[in-house]
Amino acid sequence: MKIHEYQAKEIFREYGIATPKGIACFSVDEAVNAARQLGDQLCVVKAQIYAGGRGKGGGVKVAHSLEEVRQHANAILNMRLVTHQTGPEGRIVRRLLVEQGVQIEKEYYIGLVVDRRQQRVCLMASSEGGMDIEKVAVETPEKIHKVVIDPVAGLREHEAYDVAQKIGIPSDAMQQAYELLRALYQIFDEKDASLVEVNPLVLTGDKRLIALDAKMNFDDNALFRHPEIVELRDLDEEDPIETEASKHELSYIPLDGNIGCLVNGAGLAMATMDIIKLYGGNPANFLDVGGGATAEKVTEAFKLMLRNSKLQAILVNIFGGIMKCDVIAQGVVDAARIVELSVPLIVRLEGTNMELGKKILKESHLAIISANDMADAAEKVVAAANT
Ligand code: GDP
Ligand code: MN
Repeated sequence: MKIHEYQAKEIFREYGIATPKGIACFSVDEAVNAARQLGDQLCVVKAQIYAGGRGKGGGVKVAHSLEEVRQHANAILNMRLVTHQTGPEGRIVRRLLVEQGVQIEKEYYIGLVVDRRQQRVCLMASSEGGMDIEKVAVETPEKIHKVVIDPVAGLREHEAYDVAQKIGIPSDAMQQAYELLRALYQIFDEKDASLVEVNPLVLTGDKRLIALDAKMNFDDNALFRHPEIVELRDLDEEDPIETEASKHELSYIPLDGNIGCLVNGAGLAMATMDIIKLYGGNPANFLDVGGGATAEKVTEAFKLMLRNSKLQAILVNIFGGIMKCDVIAQGVVDAARIVELSVPLIVRLEGTNMELGKKILKESHLAIISANDMADAAEKVVAAANT
């Protein structure tokens, strides 16, 4: 799960990390009022979306007067912001952050991620702040310094000082850098984050270290112990299809092909996508209805697949183990009727009560194409999608 910059900054402040003073806004008038309240000459208007690279895309603008705040807020709010992280379709901006402007002397990069290979949290720091860190990693990897953190000891004092020194934090800001790095690791650890990123961390003219940007992602599997984080969820920023799927406890991942797949079990779902590919087709989604699929769940699954305008055919591939084939067959028939299915439907059933399942499909008089095995099913669905 992700959160907005302004929400991440609130968490930062709780842990004593300095950030610019700012106010989240939902309208242009609110933005102007916020700037008035902040009372500074220099203000920054920032688009709040779950993606980085906003500055380059025109989503971060410095204002020198209330009139400029109004202009920038007007331009940014409701714009379709395209950055290297949003994909070409971009994201509509629905929230703004109006912040006090900061005089930047130097920009740094700080990030904490889970390093899967080391199975530990890794701190990354660089003197090249404010830039695309992926680009720094490719072009000048020696400028990224890493500390693999021992989960028992936490970030050690000497490790924090050492990395701060390597990225060129001046000596009079050393103590601040140390406290900031320790606080960032504490946040990562206590909040079960999967990413904490400050890009840029800035040094001001008067030698203060301030988190100018803040990004946090969380481990979904740990959200049950962080109701305060779940509360921050902004459903506008999440894929509506995935949100709908999680409501019905379906694992659904949209892909860019045209063959919908409805399968029970993640392994079989993967194998189904593979065999569709092998026969020259392209899956439109991954969809695992799980072991305990009911007729209602199957109906919801059909509805999800049918939201995709590119869909040309559907393959239902069920192995009846705990799940009986006749139950699934009835679910498929009910769903096909409810959603008034308009694309060819290929069904392959195998396992418990298979004969009964096939009979239900046949007697439904729906235009369902029955398949004998996986290869047969894949061949038929690819042919159906191509006509
Ligand atoms: P991102 O592009 O999505 O990563 O958004 P950032 O929050 O990092 O902002 C992009 C850039 O805007 C920063 O790297 C800064 O150079 C600039 N910026 C943001 N806030 C301020 C500010 O208060 N003062 C100045 N001078 N520049 C700022
Ligand atoms: Mn940034």
